[in-house]
Amino acid sequence: MSASRATGARLPLGQPATSLLQRKLERLGLRDPSDFVVHLPLRYEDETRLVPILSLAPGMTAQVEGEVVRSEVQYRPRRQLHAVLQDDSGQLALRWLNFYPSQQKQLSEGNRLRVRGEVRNGFGGHEMVHPKVSRAGGDLPQALTPVYPTTDGLTQASLRKAIDQALQTADLSDTLPEEVRQQYQLLPFAQAIRMLHHPPAQVSYAELVERGHPAWERIKFDELLAQQLSLAAARAARRRQKARELPPNGVLLKRLRASLPFRLTDAQERVIQEISSDLCRNFPMHRLLQGDVGSGKTVVAAFAAAQAISAGSQVALMAPTEILAEQHFRKLASWLQPLGVNVAWLTGSLSVKSRRQAMAAIESGEAQLVVGTQALIQDKVAFDNLGLAILDEQHRFGVGQRLQLSRKGEAHEGVLALIPHQLNMSATPIPRTLAMTFFADLDVSAIDELPPGRSPVLTKLIADTRRDEVLGSVTAEVRQGRQAYWVCPLVEESEVLQLQTAVDTHARLVQALPDLRIALIHGKMAAADKQQVMQGFRDGHVDLLVATTVIEVGVDVPNASLMIIEHAERFGLAQLHQLRGRVGRGSAQSICVLMYQAPLSAIARQRLRAMYETTDGFEIARRDLDLRGPGEFLGVRQSGQELLRFASIETDTRLVVQAQEAVAVMRDCFPEHARAHLRRWMRDRQDFLRS
Ligand code: ADP
Ligand code: MG
Repeated sequence: MSASRATGARLPLGQPATSLLQRKLERLGLRDPSDFVVHLPLRYEDETRLVPILSLAPGMTAQVEGEVVRSEVQYRPRRQLHAVLQDDSGQLALRWLNFYPSQQKQLSEGNRLRVRGEVRNGFGGHEMVHPKVSRAGGDLPQALTPVYPTTDGLTQASLRKAIDQALQTADLSDTLPEEVRQQYQLLPFAQAIRMLHHPPAQVSYAELVERGHPAWERIKFDELLAQQLSLAAARAARRRQKARELPPNGVLLKRLRASLPFRLTDAQERVIQEISSDLCRNFPMHRLLQGDVGSGKTVVAAFAAAQAISAGSQVALMAPTEILAEQHFRKLASWLQPLGVNVAWLTGSLSVKSRRQAMAAIESGEAQLVVGTQALIQDKVAFDNLGLAILDEQHRFGVGQRLQLSRKGEAHEGVLALIPHQLNMSATPIPRTLAMTFFADLDVSAIDELPPGRSPVLTKLIADTRRDEVLGSVTAEVRQGRQAYWVCPLVEESEVLQLQTAVDTHARLVQALPDLRIALIHGKMAAADKQQVMQGFRDGHVDLLVATTVIEVGVDVPNASLMIIEHAERFGLAQLHQLRGRVGRGSAQSICVLMYQAPLSAIARQRLRAMYETTDGFEIARRDLDLRGPGEFLGVRQSGQELLRFASIETDTRLVVQAQEAVAVMRDCFPEHARAHLRRWMRDRQDFLRS
């Protein structure tokens, strides 16, 4: 073989068969024997038994043996192979809508066959359509046949073979010490694993597929324990890290408080305190600040920033969109600049010159607060002494981005010595159980109260056939001196179509409402244009802002009191809640109109009903979780990471509690076991949990 081939420039001839299989297996995350071992069946087929034909009932999947007593090709209602199988007890019809000559031959009259399939009611009694057929009289397997989760082009047979091979070589030793197993009455690992891959025929099928069997309990316990161990490890690791202590220096904070045009709510005061104490510690804060849309998180961030700055540190605040970053920049600058704080601004769309200036100010430490987008975490941005990093709408950022920000701390002789404190803000409330189980080592603060004087947004569901009425209410609102948003239909599949839709929607509205000042904003516009449009809307020069979901997060224009969402049925629940949160920020009664196109799918109907029935972000989150399940809810589905494969935090609460209990014992008394357990269950997923 030539050198170029050996280095992989071309696939060597003659070997792809195995590597193709390997690639498919890898797609399922199956690489090492230990991966295969915990690739567990979804369900099982019972091929251990034969039943008499007389005992068959519609809906059951069964296996019978008998003699073919009739076999013919019928032409009505269409061409099909029809056969009748008979045993001592009765007859069963078999049917194939497509078939090969070889099948026809196999089904010749007089042949004795074993068939397996689902029983249905046919014209002349029970029948099986496209059953699995083999010769009668073969050995019956002793164990149930596992059916594994698989991927395109990977057959159950090859998957079973690969798993069975792995079971022979893999290390199945127990990572739980005897004590822990006894205490929670758990099966040994090897026994549980072997049982789940090859359950004996007498095991309760219901317990197996519903995962109530003791073997499943052991696996679920292991999985939950691994997760909790990993969280505990992350927490301990964070406490070993060093951060600069940032105690409050009274003057700046007092002046900030005095300059605000409103009184902080009790909830805001409380979370400001919580953050303040974290900042005084010498290990990095890792706190999630939750507060429903409009609850006033920005000002809390301002207090955290002021405290850090008063202690001599730099602060970075990162927002997911330019529009939001710009809005924060304005707001924070308006609060802090008069108090002598130097606020800088950094986004990807700055001119080369402004960018260079901003970078220089960041590097020299002259910029005390830097507000920006993802541009802040680029390699080239070097802070002089970043003490606090704030992420707004943290769920919009990936794990990697969050980690990158925490690496912008202070280095000494090239080694990262001080990690910045991190404050994550989010309006997507995470139900408590989820936060506890999934969010690594994260302390949670919640603003559970809205500023006074807000009346809840009134939500209306209106079919798009009543568009004229909606246009009328836009005009009426504007006549009263208020402003409105019109959110364009979502076209997720194509950016080009999305853009076109936005432009069309704008054009139609301009035509329908000639007296109004209407502007358009969308993601593909140049940053400067976006800024200009937002500024015009903020200043009241625009009555109606036609927008794509670029305004979804954070945008704050209190005079806007009407929100129209076209094709609301295409949006997700969290998204609708965020969009609706753009209104109801001032004292005027605000209205959100969800226009929909009938007929609605069942899930869209449930989403719209939830929006209609409640404005409480926590309740919405709970329903969203019900509708979507935790993986998608937390936005981890895209990252390809499954959080829990076997256990469910909703239904396995007892195991969750037990696993939490066992963590301390494992870490304190059995550190070797704990490490082995994490190796088996977590592998490369630890980073994810740490974020
Ligand atoms: P969110 O939590 O959605 O980020 P913002 O920080 O944008 O909310 O605040 C929403 C609006 O409420 C802003 O206009 C803000 O200035 C105002 N606000 C914040 N706190 C108070 C308060 N205690 N009293 C009155 N208005 C407040
Ligand atoms: Mg906000």
